[in-house]
Amino acid sequence: YSFDDMNLKPEIVRGIFGYGYEAPSAIQQRAIVPITERKDVLAQAQSGTGKTATFTISALQNIDHTEKATQALILAPTRELAQQILNVINSIGLYLNVTVHASIGGTSMQDDIEALKSGVQIVVGTPGRVFDMIDRRYFKTNKIKMFILDEADEMLSSGFKEQIYNIFRLLPESTQVVLLSATMPQDVLEVTTKFMDNPVRILV
Ligand code: AMP
Repeated sequence: YSFDDMNLKPEIVRGIFGYGYEAPSAIQQRAIVPITERKDVLAQAQSGTGKTATFTISALQNIDHTEKATQALILAPTRELAQQILNVINSIGLYLNVTVHASIGGTSMQDDIEALKSGVQIVVGTPGRVFDMIDRRYFKTNKIKMFILDEADEMLSSGFKEQIYNIFRLLPESTQVVLLSATMPQDVLEVTTKFMDNPVRILV
């Protein structure tokens, strides 16, 4: 596959080339098509493989930009990583009309509440703040179609297990799950068996 052969919206292909990527990395070649076909995908991938652009491109593709509701939720273990993901989404999504917001600890609750109430289409955040916002009903999850867990091993080993399980339980039954993890410890395998449906497995 090249980026031109993935059936992506032309604005996304333009965003990818404009960002400076010429050819897809191995994980992008193998994961973007199944994710955009809305399959559950379990990818064992380290940082440096191009994993962020993999799920960014796929989420941008799967969003209905005419619907002003949160459709994709991306969780990351740290505020810094969530912020980096937001930057990649904004860069590759430059030519698309998509709204994105970071819901992370240590930032203004009021700004977070306003953005979430307005129905931003993609939310990227850390599990603690995101669960808090869902629990307090500022973050409406009923239109979510896609749940992405980046660095799942890191999130599960740093005390976020309960929040992640609680978030899963508050998402629509049919939500597509994409999980990326450098390693596959028991906690990660448990999430895949509990919450994923016949996932496509990718090892890069
Ligand atoms: P990640 O694995 O998401 O941490 O990405 C590692 C680095 O690879 C980042 O600097 C990305 O901008 C870069 N990258 C991702 N995909 C591509 C690509 N297709 N071509 C060139 N660089 C890329």
